[in-house]
Amino acid sequence: MLVVMNHDATREQIARVVELIEEMGYQARPMPGAQRTSVGLVGNDGRVDGSRLEALDGVADVIHVSKPYKQVSREWRPENTLVTIAPGVVFGGAQIPIIAGPCSVESAEQIVLAAQQVREAGGAALRGGAYKPRSSPYSFQGLGPKGLELLALARSETGLPIVTEALDDEGAHLVAEVADCIQIGARNMQNYSLLRTVGRIGKPVLLKRGMSATITDLLMSAEYILAEGNSQVILCERGIRSFDPSTRNLFDLTAIPLVQKLSHLPMVADPSHGTGLRDKVLPMGRAAIAAGADGLLVEMHPNPERALSDGGQSLHPEQFVRLVREARAIAEAIGRSITPAPSPAREGSPPARPGRQ
Ligand code: PEP
Ligand code: MN
Repeated sequence: MLVVMNHDATREQIARVVELIEEMGYQARPMPGAQRTSVGLVGNDGRVDGSRLEALDGVADVIHVSKPYKQVSREWRPENTLVTIAPGVVFGGAQIPIIAGPCSVESAEQIVLAAQQVREAGGAALRGGAYKPRSSPYSFQGLGPKGLELLALARSETGLPIVTEALDDEGAHLVAEVADCIQIGARNMQNYSLLRTVGRIGKPVLLKRGMSATITDLLMSAEYILAEGNSQVILCERGIRSFDPSTRNLFDLTAIPLVQKLSHLPMVADPSHGTGLRDKVLPMGRAAIAAGADGLLVEMHPNPERALSDGGQSLHPEQFVRLVREARAIAEAIGRSITPAPSPAREGSPPARPGRQ
């Protein structure tokens, strides 16, 4: 349930609505908007008497949210939510950040070089897995804590914020110490315990669509994170399973405008996992920008032939340069722009790792 206040409602009137919701035994979530404040009622068990709230001074309307997800819906919040992962790197506005880097962190040389290449090409954030959810237990599982350390090193060398995946509750806390944005992968989209954990941690989260998840499933998973009080959630289309083995996954472009209509959260696209084929990443990356994506997540490796995971879908650095250039032209054609790389770590700023020279 959502209590919409008059545009000139006073602070006292809003406070009274919050107080009554709490008296009724529910949680209140005041949300100041550009035009007016709304107060969400969380924990609605179907027995809330909306007329008591409707009768309060300053209340314009009481809306019963009809979807199985509430706080992620546009009914709950009509304006786009902006998710900021670092100064100047914002998802959901006119600027479109491009996150790029290897599938896995492999060594200091590899991740620092990749970060420099991402930065030079115009990417706004670095991706790279330290913990890898591999379909086979015998495949490379990631460098773990060492990988996180190397990501922090790459950030201190380039100034790029870090997006990296957490696989479980315990790992989420370790990842949160380093990451600017915690990725929840397709295989974990319905790991509700992990979703609650990252909701409580409160850092920005990039939530990938499960490989056989409907749009409603994706939004309900996001709801778990918002229900813990964290609205800094970026959704990601990364392809779904299909009957056709011509591509690794079926990249669902329609999911972009669909989700943006249903939810106020930013929606980004991952054409790398979406197609699984290097030469399809450029056309599908362009298409995602044209379809209105609020960001791209792309795998790029300094030397894809030697990658320990997903080399076959990773762009060569020069292909990534081209993707950013073409994405810029498309963004401009639809009244948007590509987020520039953030300024490099300034001299005199504290080192990312204590004791680093
Ligand atoms: C990844 O981003 O490297 C990854 C494992 O993605 P997904 O969860 O979409 O398979
Ligand atoms: Mn990958």
